[in-house]
Amino acid sequence: MIRVEHLQKNFGQLHALKDVTLEVNKGEIVSLIGPSGSGKSTLLRCIHGLEKPDKGKIYMNDELMDPQNKEKYREQRNHMGFVFQHFNLFPHMTVLDNLNLAQTEVLGRSKEDATKKSLELLKRVGLQEKKDSYPNNLSGGQKQRVAIARALCMDPDMMLFDEPTSALDPEMIKEVLEVMKDLGKQGMTMIVVTHEMGFARKVGSRVVFLDHGEIIEDAPSEEFFSNPKSDRAKDFLSKVF
Ligand code: ADP
Ligand code: MG
Repeated sequence: MIRVEHLQKNFGQLHALKDVTLEVNKGEIVSLIGPSGSGKSTLLRCIHGLEKPDKGKIYMNDELMDPQNKEKYREQRNHMGFVFQHFNLFPHMTVLDNLNLAQTEVLGRSKEDATKKSLELLKRVGLQEKKDSYPNNLSGGQKQRVAIARALCMDPDMMLFDEPTSALDPEMIKEVLEVMKDLGKQGMTMIVVTHEMGFARKVGSRVVFLDHGEIIEDAPSEEFFSNPKSDRAKDFLSKVF
């Protein structure tokens, strides 16, 4: 579904991504893990087009994602849903309006169709009764579930998550992970930057371990956790467990 080839991204002198090549197939749940500053967010942001790589190519379903090809590129980007650590909901809009916005503005759906979709997705994340609430009146876990529902309203083929539970109090982490787990069960292709090793191991199908802008290991989850090959991965795991 996504193929990243020889991706490089520099911030001035800093080589945030050095030569990253990665393939994600339909239905896979790839956990992107690694120390802070290893380039996880940068990789995800490059895939979603929020950062422009210095070198390398990204393909979606074997078609090049080329920002020069504006119309096509926008359409390709619309196939991906992005969920951030800090929710990025509009505080002055109700939950329902947050969910409707991109559907009407970007996809050109009627308000009626958008609302129908929004309510369906709110139900799926267990928050139908919060449709008229404002984000500030929701808990962190609820906000993140709304953010996930909002991304799903766009009918994405794949979902990208950047530390979706890192800003949450411990008791709220589980409700968000449950929603993600359900998504995976329904076959959603996902790339998840996470420090939740339990999730990566049990729900994720594959682990990509990044360090200093390079992929050090790329292995099935169980294999990575039971038998990490590199010293860097071993060292990382010894610190998080
Ligand atoms: P991670 O998500 O794994 O913690 P990031 O992808 O955020 O890592 O960052 C990788 C490296 O790139 C870090 O050294 C970070 O400081 C640097 N970096 C990320 N974004 C920017 C930016 N916009 N400007 C300058 N440096 C950045
Ligand atoms: Mg990050």
